[in-house]
Amino acid sequence: MATEWLFRDDAYLRETCARVVAVHERGIELDRTLFYPQGGGQVGDTGVVTRHSGEPIGVVDTRKGDAPDAVLHLLAPGASSPEVGEMLALAIDWERRYRLMRLHTALHVLSCVVVAPVTGGNIAPDKARLDFDIDMSLLDAERIERETNALIARGTPTETVWITDDELDARPELVKTMSVQPPRGSGRVRLLRIPGIDLQPCGGTHVANIGEIGAIRVLKIKSEGRRNRRVEIALS
Ligand SMILES: [Zn+2]
Repeated sequence: MATEWLFRDDAYLRETCARVVAVHERGIELDRTLFYPQGGGQVGDTGVVTRHSGEPIGVVDTRKGDAPDAVLHLLAPGASSPEVGEMLALAIDWERRYRLMRLHTALHVLSCVVVAPVTGGNIAPDKARLDFDIDMSLLDAERIERETNALIARGTPTETVWITDDELDARPELVKTMSVQPPRGSGRVRLLRIPGIDLQPCGGTHVANIGEIGAIRVLKIKSEGRRNRRVEIALS
């Protein structure tokens, strides 16, 4: 069953309530959710759902379900299982999510400092990385850090824009990530625009203004293969 993805319109929503629509061995599905399911390199959200009785149940991870737009909330082992139709209060681990939003948005900025095809990426709460198809000699940690932080310091607001599949097909240069093609089939594609800096398809959660990232530091640069030169960053 399709779930309404509330974080897609408002990544800053921390709490809401929702109805249980399905209960599986692995987790529960809700009619709407704040919990971002792992995807696009960004890890799934964690948090708590609270039953009417006041009993809290930990959400240890969030994954996509089988149906399009279905979201599976993985509950803490040993917790009681809510029933279909039951209303739950939802709360994400906001501190963790906000770090993910800042790091995720930082990768968009980084992808404009290192100008090369992106071959992979990952965003965890403590660090994030992008892999590039580029010569190692062109990756200088000190320069990447300085230029990324100079762009972040502009304090540019971010925007979410939607275009049709046909519009995206007409502008293939928008797709920087070779390993992850934007999802097709729904007829429209979500883009993140950072005016003057970046524009690319992305379904993840971002900060409203890149100034919220603060600053980043480059943790390491290493080769993970000829087409995977890895740049790993953290919030500083
Ligand atoms: Zn993004």
